[in-house]
Amino acid sequence: MHHPDAVLALLDLAPSGRVDAVRLVDPDAPALHALELAATRGDGVFETISIGRGHPQALRPHLTRLASSAAMLDLPAPDLDGWREAILRVADTLAAHEESWVKIVLSRGVDGGDRPTGWAWGEPSGDFHAARTEGIRVALLDRGYHSDVASTSPWLLAGAKTLSYATNMAARREAVRRGADDALFVSTDGLVLEGPTANLVVRLDGVLATPRTDVGILPGTTQADLFRWAARQGIPTRFASISPLDLQRADAAWMVSSVRHAAAVRAIDERALPVDAQLSAAMNAYLAGRTE
Ligand code: PLP
Repeated sequence: MHHPDAVLALLDLAPSGRVDAVRLVDPDAPALHALELAATRGDGVFETISIGRGHPQALRPHLTRLASSAAMLDLPAPDLDGWREAILRVADTLAAHEESWVKIVLSRGVDGGDRPTGWAWGEPSGDFHAARTEGIRVALLDRGYHSDVASTSPWLLAGAKTLSYATNMAARREAVRRGADDALFVSTDGLVLEGPTANLVVRLDGVLATPRTDVGILPGTTQADLFRWAARQGIPTRFASISPLDLQRADAAWMVSSVRHAAAVRAIDERALPVDAQLSAAMNAYLAGRTE
């Protein structure tokens, strides 16, 4: 079930993707058709945006990524001004909460119809204190894709934020079966990729590194904000090809994403990793405090 303050906005979309209206509706009222392709095929895209005291965070990069995911699925280009308005209306209603989130969904619509479906669901965030401070354990899992999958097989939609997250959720369950909290994917040619819902940031030789984005992963909005912040703190950053072997010499790592922000990694498979409590706290204070 959902938080009592949850809010749902439905978007009336034209076949072109234009937002004709945004309506706040009862979050418990039926809202989707049984032939909705979001539900029957996972045929659509989404973004989850964190909200700090009513301010959507990294809004522009989330909207840009929504548009690029939509283009990869040949969906109508989203009307970003209309989507922004829907997000701001949801965020406004959640402004009393320190941390909340809004998930926006754009699908191909009802099977046989001519217009996409769109909605925005928002609610206060859960408690991520333990993940941010004590840290999480991650299990390395083979993703079964070569790192050049995005160019060799674009129909697999690697790098698009599609609604088809059943495999991501299955990976997380496998990680839990292996005694971890989250998964970290590795390509068939041995490059570390991303988690099911987060990017990896790892400290190697004093540099914060993250996997290059041309290996079929999502370009992270949280990782991008964090790297800009790190640069202001004088901490060097870089995109890199990272192998599981590289992870063995890392002295700190984080899984970073909207909503959970920077979850410190305290173990990768069997190997324990130190948690840099001070840096983790500073990262999370910055991420939670963003006003845009
Ligand atoms: N990678 C995947 C597969 C994701 O689903 C997400 C977010 O949910 C991320 C990375 C992190 O992206 P962001 O920081 O923009 O939330």
